[in-house]
Amino acid sequence: MRIIIRGIVQGVGFRPTVYRIANALGLNGFVQNNGSNVIIEVDRDGEILLGELKKHLPPIARIDSIEIINDDAKVGYTFSGFKIVSSSEGERGVSIPTDTAICEDCRAEIFDEGNRRYLYPFTNCTVCGARFSLINNVPYDRIHTSMDEFPMCEECRKEYENPIDRRFHHQTISCPRCGPRYYLVDSRGHRTDEDPIRKFAEMLHHGAIGIAKSWGGMHICCTLETLPRLREWYKRREKPFAVMFRDLDAVRELAEPTPFEERLLTSQNRPIVLVKKKEEKINEVIAPGLGNIGAFLPYSGMHYILFHHLNENALVMT
Ligand SMILES: [Zn+2]
Ligand SMILES: [Zn+2]
Repeated sequence: MRIIIRGIVQGVGFRPTVYRIANALGLNGFVQNNGSNVIIEVDRDGEILLGELKKHLPPIARIDSIEIINDDAKVGYTFSGFKIVSSSEGERGVSIPTDTAICEDCRAEIFDEGNRRYLYPFTNCTVCGARFSLINNVPYDRIHTSMDEFPMCEECRKEYENPIDRRFHHQTISCPRCGPRYYLVDSRGHRTDEDPIRKFAEMLHHGAIGIAKSWGGMHICCTLETLPRLREWYKRREKPFAVMFRDLDAVRELAEPTPFEERLLTSQNRPIVLVKKKEEKINEVIAPGLGNIGAFLPYSGMHYILFHHLNENALVMT
């Protein structure tokens, strides 16, 4: 039986999930990225597999359609065990997953001193991290992403190949040994030797205006205390600026988010949410003359590490 699944099914931990379910059911066959779709072939019980798959769908996956072909002669595959096989060219749709905020598990790792990804800003896994910003082509494989230039190290390879690891078949897996790094340049263009994110936090604390690159672009940033100077320098006397807050409690210090807005703020897409501002002097500097401020929460490992090193609870990020 051949099953073709369309939707947001690549770069979201879909194949590893199919692999685990098929193995638990003792099925033979394979799962494969094909164009922008996923193809599953199994020797039996395809319906049961699909039922389980829908129950355990990875959080950022979305199934738009399922096509089942019951003609085994057409399939022509000899079954023995269940495998994830190399991707193949095929029909190309436009369902590319969005960039997704770092998940709880990855966040726990970057603040665990004993973890090999301690304070590593590019930590991500099959259910979180940059996707849209990294993909150059489909099928979604490492060679079709910006991670192509960072070959994985032995330890990452072990995780990648381990079916019970949460980074099993994670295409953009990396670690401090093999992955990209941040660096910090000063206003004269010189690279600093110090820990870049810690140093950046220190400079912001002392009134610097900086630029932080992240996936999908960059933010001009400064503390709220520095904001009046940013307005002068940037020549934006009245434009409201979005503020990234350390956490929900910090948002509540300056604004009154509704329960719905709090759900939006903490959702995996981490949108900028317009929330009702409190009567605080600083709010007039953030959004002069308006009833709301644009608030959002950290979405990448770098942002969380930046706040980890920072005394302030909020940064202008525009
Ligand atoms: Zn994660
Ligand atoms: Zn590595």
